[in-house]
Amino acid sequence: MNTVQSSVPRVLWPAVPGPVPARLLAMGFQLEQSQWWSPGEIQGQQRRQLGQLLDHARTTVPFYRQRLAAAGHDANPSPSDAFWHGLPLLSREDIQEAGQALVSEAIPTAHGHHRWLQTSGSTGRPIRALVTGLTGLFWNALVLREHHWHRRDFSRRLCALRAEAVDNAPDGADGPDWGHPVSTVYRSGPASLMGIHQPVERQARWLMERQPGYLLTHPSNLRALARHFVDAGLKLPGLVQARTYGETVTDELRALVRAAWGVPLVDAYSAQEVGYIALQCPQHDHYHVQSESLLVEVLDDDGRPCVPGEVGRVAMTTLHNFAMPLIRYVNQDYAEVGPPCPCGRGLPVLRRILGRRRNMLTLPDGRRFWPSFPAHLFTEVADIRQFQLIQDGPAHLELRLVAPGGLTPAQREELARRIVSRFGHPFEFRFELVDAIPQGPGHKYEDFISRVGD
Ligand SMILES: [Zn+2]
Repeated sequence: MNTVQSSVPRVLWPAVPGPVPARLLAMGFQLEQSQWWSPGEIQGQQRRQLGQLLDHARTTVPFYRQRLAAAGHDANPSPSDAFWHGLPLLSREDIQEAGQALVSEAIPTAHGHHRWLQTSGSTGRPIRALVTGLTGLFWNALVLREHHWHRRDFSRRLCALRAEAVDNAPDGADGPDWGHPVSTVYRSGPASLMGIHQPVERQARWLMERQPGYLLTHPSNLRALARHFVDAGLKLPGLVQARTYGETVTDELRALVRAAWGVPLVDAYSAQEVGYIALQCPQHDHYHVQSESLLVEVLDDDGRPCVPGEVGRVAMTTLHNFAMPLIRYVNQDYAEVGPPCPCGRGLPVLRRILGRRRNMLTLPDGRRFWPSFPAHLFTEVADIRQFQLIQDGPAHLELRLVAPGGLTPAQREELARRIVSRFGHPFEFRFELVDAIPQGPGHKYEDFISRVGD
């Protein structure tokens, strides 16, 4: 049971919130209703907001003055389908090249202070994005929606292991509450933070000492932790949910988390420069697009919208960033469109987030897919603590392994046989035994990296 913080002396319940929490609660009140609207009703309201954004972009942002005029945009408040689908996509390269030309010459003062943020290298080419107090308000309102969807009990301890904490809490830090926006609105219990650069044994000890109700980290780090808990026979009896963000989640990881701690994994799909893109449904493993904040399209190679079951590029339009509008921005992520959700929410469904092209395998015949590797594929063959596959040629894979006892020729042959049967092509292998597999940019591990193709 979560209770709201009151701003009035001697009034504890029901609380009378101050201005900042009141604003967040008022946003939440609307989000609670709009999630149940029909897809048509949601699209109608998105169009109204999009009209405002396009008008602002055309009249105050140099980059869009040209681009929208060239696409035939006029003062029409509701863009037509033909106009919209003729509008070029915005790549990370476009953003880097455009620089200041993407910034509005008239950022509305009511949108609050603006600030630059830089995305981490782990998401491809780093870009700088200008965000405002208003985009921060939407971010925080969606943070609270995610908590409500998954019925979090704020009195329990939250333990977060984050790449972002490598600098500010490298050895771990304990705080009295969950921090903004949760503790601004609600009474909340303690939260602890640690950088994910710490060895997994150290992270596990830290978690055992704190016994969290909720554990938040990146999927690759969660995978390493869950394997460690299973291998060491350790438990976290107070854990209610494992939460992830920032990388791709597989069904194999969801099963591993169940095996390690007996709890579900709840994932959120976000990007610093656009905010929350899609949140996991409270009743299913798939995701609902956050249509109140973003217009999300999933497009095939010809630029047409994908239908349920198809995989395509994710293109996003930020509906409320009037400092640096991102219109049809492609961040190099791919997703599979899902059918309407049985939960009744009208928010569009993404069945899976598939990650980036850099993590796709290319077969010599040109087919591409995102490979996944259950740990037992390796651990059944030898004492293998960590692995990474790199495609460094059309038919060639490098297999990097941390195998303290080494590998016999028979074990190498068996590993190659298993991977070949999983990928459906007789790749050639080079084995490289290493002491450790370093984290990539942003302190993340990647099981598979392709150096083939574009
Ligand atoms: Zn749903």
